[in-house]
Amino acid sequence: MMTDDVWTRACDDLVSRLGRNNYLTWIEPLRFLGQTSGIARFGVPTTFFGDWVSRHFGDQIRAALGACGATVERIEFCIPRQAQDRPPETEAPVSEQPRRPLLAGRGSPADAELPGAPLDARFTFESFVVGKPNELAHAAARRVAEGAAVTFNPLFLYGGVGLGKTHLMHAIAQELIARNPAKRVLYLSAEQFMYRFIQALRDKQIMDFKELFRSVDVLMVDDVQFIAGKDSTQEEFFHTFNALVDQNKQIVFSADRAPGEIKGIQERIRSRMQCGLIVDLHPTDYELRLGILQQKVDYYRSQYPGLKIAPGVLEFLAHRITTNVRVLEGALTRLFAFASLVGREITLELAQDCLSDILRASDRKVSIDEIQRRVAEHYNIRLADLIGPKRIRTIARPRQIAMYLSKHMTLRSLPEIGRRFGGRDHTTIMHGVRKIEEMMATDSQLADDLQLLRRMLEA
Ligand code: ADP
Ligand code: MG
Repeated sequence: MMTDDVWTRACDDLVSRLGRNNYLTWIEPLRFLGQTSGIARFGVPTTFFGDWVSRHFGDQIRAALGACGATVERIEFCIPRQAQDRPPETEAPVSEQPRRPLLAGRGSPADAELPGAPLDARFTFESFVVGKPNELAHAAARRVAEGAAVTFNPLFLYGGVGLGKTHLMHAIAQELIARNPAKRVLYLSAEQFMYRFIQALRDKQIMDFKELFRSVDVLMVDDVQFIAGKDSTQEEFFHTFNALVDQNKQIVFSADRAPGEIKGIQERIRSRMQCGLIVDLHPTDYELRLGILQQKVDYYRSQYPGLKIAPGVLEFLAHRITTNVRVLEGALTRLFAFASLVGREITLELAQDCLSDILRASDRKVSIDEIQRRVAEHYNIRLADLIGPKRIRTIARPRQIAMYLSKHMTLRSLPEIGRRFGGRDHTTIMHGVRKIEEMMATDSQLADDLQLLRRMLEA
């Protein structure tokens, strides 16, 4: 068993192993939290800090501990709650607004056993940056958060990872509770729903379970695609859902895809999900990403006064990191942590250096082959037909879609794309691309298809 004392001695050892500077920068800030079964835990100020120490000094730390008589197989780092490196965008600091356990019917006996998931105080409407890709979802969420009479039920939010679904769900819940603290809002993930359900079955408390879920004013279930293929959970979910809809209680769901595209859920559940309002969070565009970065930078400026950021850095990041907002935020956090540690201005070079792994991963370009394969699969036509000469609509349209995606998702030139589509002329490709661009504006089915395809290709 390792004690504080062992760590103190290991620190002496580490000063000589690593040198005074390294020690002061990287080891002294570690807070020893304890050890259980070969794993020593340390508190660190940021995720980046932990990664860095683990990568550069992990072996030495273990060796030093070993030399002092502790057997440590692994070292883990965690961020104490109040020091988390994500900006608390709410007015009050996070430490004053701890994750509040969700108040499903405070005071009712079932609560203690079945609370909802905690809400993140940072996920509010104020901290949500609105842009074209998410304006509809945001407006629908705002409407539900007003808590007025239920007009659409359920609200179904869907979109790819890291696009803000959970953020919006938490914002709705917090706004509802702020407006009316007596409101019984239950937020949880579909996975938690399932575990609570199984637990209730096991503990023979299924009646309490049913009662609790049927007694809420607002039920919010995150990531409902999780229940696909889980039959008994779906069954219970369906009954809960119906009971609440019958009582005219608001329901909000989120998923990573539209209800129609979730395989392995019962038809009746799917069709009830489609009864309400379905809104889509589109992949971010450059303006939205830049807006989000600017918001975060304002926060970091207040945290690291004196830190300079060169012009063009945010634009560079917004341009290069297109995967999702979580990655974008992570990049900025790392950049600021690094710059503040080394005391340098954040320049393009520093960003390129410090974020090379993220930038490389974001560079993954889709190939024309992949696009053709996906499109053919999606429209259920043969790859040979997609590339071949047939001109009937059911084949020609998907072909144009594949051309459009090739133009927008790869760096290939029109003549190159033409060659890959059975040796077509570049003007044919241009025509196809334009055609799809025009149609997208008016044909929402086509726009949806394109989104889905893009998302699958980017995944
Ligand atoms: P999802 O649930 O869709 O996977 P999250 O809601 O967890 O995504 O969002 C991932 C991260 O990105 C969160 O930290 C969230 O605050 C942030 N984020 C996403 N969209 C926005 C936005 N429009 N404005 C501000 N932050 C955002
Ligand atoms: Mg989520």
